[in-house]
Amino acid sequence: MGLMTGKRGIIFGVANDMSIAWGAAQQLKEAGATLAFTYLNEALEKRVRPLAESLGSDLILPCDVGRDEDIEAVFAKVKEVWGDIDFVVHSVAFANKDDLKRPFSETSREGFKLAMDISAYSLVAVTRYAVPLMNNGGSVVTLTYLGATRAVPNYNVMGVAKAALEASVRYLAAELGEKKIRVNAVSAGPIKTLAASGVGGLREKLKLMDQYAPLRRAVDQQDVGKSVVYMVSDLSSGVTGEVHFVDGGFSTVVPA
Ligand code: NAD
Repeated sequence: MGLMTGKRGIIFGVANDMSIAWGAAQQLKEAGATLAFTYLNEALEKRVRPLAESLGSDLILPCDVGRDEDIEAVFAKVKEVWGDIDFVVHSVAFANKDDLKRPFSETSREGFKLAMDISAYSLVAVTRYAVPLMNNGGSVVTLTYLGATRAVPNYNVMGVAKAALEASVRYLAAELGEKKIRVNAVSAGPIKTLAASGVGGLREKLKLMDQYAPLRRAVDQQDVGKSVVYMVSDLSSGVTGEVHFVDGGFSTVVPA
């Protein structure tokens, strides 16, 4: 019996085998969970489907989180097949590359809205549709970054979106606690992924981890995945509205 045996959940945000969501999926599967996956578009389906199938999943659904009808369709299908769910992993973010390259004050209005919509509002929408399927309580976990609370070079509009995401975690947690639904964020250190390569300075950030993080190393997808298991399992039964750092302790020290 694994920690997650008998638990079912949906993973939003696998793009390839470098995705943090994929590390989470592997750890959840190892703990005994049954998983459904979503993919953004047909191009990514080609990568996500074989990965999902390798973990024994056959619920693999399209979802652009910028479209309410896509989110609704995912939960309708999952309800039809499973009836209810225990957890959701939201590991999705997007900002225009141009907006990340420009000085922050030059962020476009449209780019600001887009980053907010896909990276922050989508958690609210996904949670709204998840709640009716969490009849025995549940857990929602999203992925965030230190750039939500500190001005990190190059992170710009994504930092603002992560601040909104973290505030959304607290408001969702406050609202849904009485339904025994917990909502938390895992704040990952820098990891080389598709999304991270859109933000400049990844190599420098990884070097800082080796130099200054108390653990003297960068974290990887499996480190983050293990904390996702903690957050969606009964091990964190008393935890909600929290931002849990998986960054080797980097956020706790001042590089000097
Ligand atoms: P990734 O590129 O593998 O994952 C990002 C995912 O977002 C992809 O699967 C992509 O398809 C999905 N996505 C983008 N727009 C979407 C849309 N409109 N609808 C549905 N899905 C959409 O990169 P990742 O680093 O694994 O990112 C996952 C999460 O982790 C993000 O929230 C990211 O901000 C966060 N995070 C990443 C790092 C890092 O350094 N890699 C650090 C902290 C937090």
